Amino acid sequence: MPEAMVETRATDATRSVSTQQVDVAVVGAGFAGLYILHRLRKAGFSAVVLEEAGDVGGTWYWNRYPGARCDIQTIDYSYTFDPELDKAWTWSEKYATQPEILRYLGFVADRYDLRRDIRFGTKVKQATWDDASERWLISTDNGANVSCRHYIMATGCLSAPKPPEIDGVKDFKGEVYFTGRWPHEGVNLKGKRVAVIGTGSSGIQSIPLIAADAAQLTVFQRTPNFALPAGNGPQPTDRKTLFEGDRTTYREQARWSMAGVPYPQQTAVSWQLSDAERRERFEKAWAAGDLVHILTQLWADQAVDVDGNTIVGDLIREKIRNVVKDPEIAAALTPHDHPFGAKRPCLDTNYYATYNRPNVTLVNLRQEPIKEITADGITTDRRSFDVDVIVFATGFDAMTGAILAVHPITGRGGKPLSSVWAGGPQTYLGLTVAGFPNLFMITGPGSPSVLSNMAVSIEQHADWVVDRLIALRDAGFTSMEATETAQAGWTRHMADCSMLTLHRLANTWYTGANVPGKAQGVMPYTGGVGPYRSICNEVVGRGMLGFKLKGPGGAEQCNDGEIVRLQPDVRLVLGMLAEMNLPPIETMGAQGARDFLNEFNKGRPAGRPVGEVGEGMLQGADGPLPYKLYRPATPGPHPIVVYFHGGGWVLGDQQSDDPFCRDMCRRTGMIFVSVGYRHAPDYRFPAAAEDGYAATRWIAEHAADLGGKPGPVLVAGWSAGGNIAAVTCQLARDRGGPEIAGQLLLSPVTDCSFDRPSYIENATGYFLTRGLMFWFWDLYCSPADRTDPRVSPLRGKLEGLPPAFIVTSEFDPLRDEGIAYAEELAKAGVPVEQLKAQGHFHSSFVMVDVVITGVPGRVKMAEALRRFAGLPTQQSDASRHAPPPEVNAAAS
Ligand code: NAP
Repeated sequence: MPEAMVETRATDATRSVSTQQVDVAVVGAGFAGLYILHRLRKAGFSAVVLEEAGDVGGTWYWNRYPGARCDIQTIDYSYTFDPELDKAWTWSEKYATQPEILRYLGFVADRYDLRRDIRFGTKVKQATWDDASERWLISTDNGANVSCRHYIMATGCLSAPKPPEIDGVKDFKGEVYFTGRWPHEGVNLKGKRVAVIGTGSSGIQSIPLIAADAAQLTVFQRTPNFALPAGNGPQPTDRKTLFEGDRTTYREQARWSMAGVPYPQQTAVSWQLSDAERRERFEKAWAAGDLVHILTQLWADQAVDVDGNTIVGDLIREKIRNVVKDPEIAAALTPHDHPFGAKRPCLDTNYYATYNRPNVTLVNLRQEPIKEITADGITTDRRSFDVDVIVFATGFDAMTGAILAVHPITGRGGKPLSSVWAGGPQTYLGLTVAGFPNLFMITGPGSPSVLSNMAVSIEQHADWVVDRLIALRDAGFTSMEATETAQAGWTRHMADCSMLTLHRLANTWYTGANVPGKAQGVMPYTGGVGPYRSICNEVVGRGMLGFKLKGPGGAEQCNDGEIVRLQPDVRLVLGMLAEMNLPPIETMGAQGARDFLNEFNKGRPAGRPVGEVGEGMLQGADGPLPYKLYRPATPGPHPIVVYFHGGGWVLGDQQSDDPFCRDMCRRTGMIFVSVGYRHAPDYRFPAAAEDGYAATRWIAEHAADLGGKPGPVLVAGWSAGGNIAAVTCQLARDRGGPEIAGQLLLSPVTDCSFDRPSYIENATGYFLTRGLMFWFWDLYCSPADRTDPRVSPLRGKLEGLPPAFIVTSEFDPLRDEGIAYAEELAKAGVPVEQLKAQGHFHSSFVMVDVVITGVPGRVKMAEALRRFAGLPTQQSDASRHAPPPEVNAAAS
């Protein structure tokens, strides 16, 4: 809609002569604000950027402390939108200094003539949505107020410095500085006694340089952080060659990568590598001096699994001890309270070696907290330190602070953003907030932002927002607003994603823990840059899903819904399977399907080590059957779980669920015996059921020979294996044993009816299809036999069965029959617990180390099995981490 029309509809407030009328107002002239302005202008929007500082630069304008540099390699930390710009600027170093980055941003501003639409020295005091005019009204402390259709917060994530939070700062007679607001003229520290409080990135970058300048430096450290030597210098040739070789591909790969830097996904897991191989990878990463490298390239489980992460942490701790000469200081500098990467690690130049200098003292605030700041210096509860200068490197009110602390923002119905976010940030895509039409945040909470290369994330956000504004204008709409449904869905998806990584396990500014009283929760999106980009694109592709669009004359469009209902890793797995464009499994024939499954399984991560893996033969219903046995590393004898694999009675064998058996063996501390029962179509109903029963009986009778605990056994199974486990329990009850202490049924087949809602809703698209189930049933069981309880246990007598733990997945055709079985068992008086796994599909829990969000479910399954066996719910830590004995020869 042209601005002239807006003028005629404007309220009195917007018509004021002192009000600047624009299509779009942007706050902040850093990396984000500059690019957005450029895009808006090219798209024909009138725009103004409001910037408190005296020039462009954003974070690089304010953070001028000694040693300030970027810590993503500068070839990656650059704009990519214009290949000519890319060619016109060459960085002088691997990690550019703050002055060089500031020069670059000035160069960009000049090249695209951006300054003429930037109002420097202008702070926004308030922003209020006016429903009548459908515009944002913005008051400023300098010059005209602004009325705009769209309002964009390009205020960064780390721009609101945290107050000192220490008593007595005002009494201090010396100089006080904040790293985030360093004086432009510089600070002379020569010959002075300096205190630095804080050892995050800002402290760690500045401490070596301050130590070299000052007469005496005292560092006050609350939490030690992990730091990696930057190895700064010329750009490394490997990255440079990659980049120069094919710039377009390099940039495109960055856009679709997990962290915004083109590195491949690691597939080898830590336990597949020998100590020497892990050491080699680590030393290479250490020498590379690159955070993204060391955070992503060691082994696949380093960022998602505590054990895989501890190996990295230990190797870094060793490095710290090797550099710092005084063992007590080394110990104080060594982080132990968080997984590596869960708190933002730092890049340093001579940081740890600085503590070997005679003029540097480390004060460990965990042992002697600061009591107060006095006129002369800093007093802990043990000592006083007289100083001339105090440097606060104490960080920021991150992410939400960068928006809320800028000024009050009032949305529809007079609702302040501060009250909407009182319990933590609520956003849709990290870009918008329900109740705040036409308000956009660049790299806001709920987007990958600080867990990514900011340059890449900023461009993606800016492009998405400006493209939406163009589309809105073209369609004749004047406002867009996230719906409550979409926002609630995103909040849930954020929570799901937070289970993927270890960020939730540390108290950091990522979680709001650094600001007293702030609501806590992982604020950035942990699902990765590439997946996030595809989700944003999908929102558009699905008709602006989750947005309400409005236009003149009551025009309205709303395609409401949640953009991601699957667990984030399930979404990735299903996406990859869809890309493979496989023919339906049921068209492959039984042998073809088996061959396919064997090939498919070769690509999965190796199962984790257990104490021992053995093989043998047992007696089935009509002859010997192979089995595979998984024994825990802890001293036995252990209870035995008889396990039946999945595969629709047609596919799979005793080793096809190997990673699941290993994982459950480790988690339960029990022996798992996976049975190779006979398969259809060669052996049809009731062969599998009868084998299941016979195998359970044989295992119970031979428990002691297998190194297990004599007495009741437990049964477990997945899919058709869950069916066999359930049937075995019924047969054991009716045929006089063996005694079964409990049953774990994971997505079991329990009935021959195919018309429950889950069969219809999830008929296709989730790997196990309705068509595939029909095929399995046809190969295994004639229609006339299908109501027999030995294949439809739901139709059997349910009284007197062992306690059950039944797992069902939301996006699984078998969901409802699993739930029905649980409900009928409960009615029959059987103790039963259910886990209804939200966002999961049929294979989620057996795709160990692929579907990471399946871990909490397996933890619950293991707890249930232990309860059934009369063991304490959790194993002691010592036994869980007991090193495996020397039985690797037996491992598969
Ligand atoms: P930070 O990581 O939050 O570190 C603040 C430090 O101050 C922490 O050691 C913290 O201890 C300590 N602290 C805070 N309040 C304290 C108090 N009341 N008493 C004693 N100690 C206190 O802040 P930052 O170093 O400014 O870095 C913030 C983020 O900015 C970084 O993580 C990074 O993402 C970004 N950054 C990037 C670069 C770069 O190279 N590109 C440079 C600087 C910053 P606790 O840990 O115990 O809270």
